[in-house]
Amino acid sequence: MASDKKLIIGNWKMNLGVHESSLFLHTLAGEVKTHRNLEVIIAPTMLALQTLSLQVNHKQFKLAAQNFYWRDHGAYTGEVSATSLRGIVQYGLVGHSERRHVFNESDKDTRAKVQAAIRNGIRPILCVGETTNERTAGETRDVIHDQLIGGLANITSEELPQVVIAYEPVWAIGTGKNAVPGDVKDAVATIRHQLKHLYGVKAASEVQVLYGGSVTADSAADYLALTEIDGLLVGGASLDARAFSTIVEKAYNSVKK
Ligand code: PEP
Repeated sequence: MASDKKLIIGNWKMNLGVHESSLFLHTLAGEVKTHRNLEVIIAPTMLALQTLSLQVNHKQFKLAAQNFYWRDHGAYTGEVSATSLRGIVQYGLVGHSERRHVFNESDKDTRAKVQAAIRNGIRPILCVGETTNERTAGETRDVIHDQLIGGLANITSEELPQVVIAYEPVWAIGTGKNAVPGDVKDAVATIRHQLKHLYGVKAASEVQVLYGGSVTADSAADYLALTEIDGLLVGGASLDARAFSTIVEKAYNSVKK
């Protein structure tokens, strides 16, 4: 574990319009307790971000962009830059499996986005993880290795602690299939080993590493019990206020007091 502070991130994906997002945030605000040593981060759709940033109690929730473009401004029709998101979000997802596999984002794209986030004072959450085929072929370590090298090139050891890494096996995202805690432990050990190799012991030990993949209110505690991880990235269950607030409580119970 890199820090005593745990992160719980709710990725709403392409769900809820602006009005619905605002109502749901209001419901969540009534359910989710604020705790020291625990940061709860919401990633709504791009369109809802500004409304939610005006509405949110920043002590209770931080906001994350699900995506952004890596250039700061210019003729890039339809894109939103990290520069435009400054002051609205504190975090930005980068290299989520849906970006990699539905939108064909490459390691070169993720690298540019990690840098753009840092340049704009936004903490990037770099997602890494293997597909079913890669897992079956025994390539999990190599995939993690390549995605870390690819995403973090040009990031200095001073900048590294601003980066959050999320281990998200592709086959477990949105599928209801759970990675067993032992596999998560191995994958996170691979991530830390690789970070140590690239940046040295101190910088590597300061990075927060999360798990994500079909986490539910029932399974959350099994992952949070792993001392190797610093929190969870939650998709489907973050759209259920009761489930999400239960996950937050379980995270709080797992934090060193
Ligand atoms: C995610 O969106 O990163 C995710 C882990 O989704 P789910 O929890 O639905 O698998």
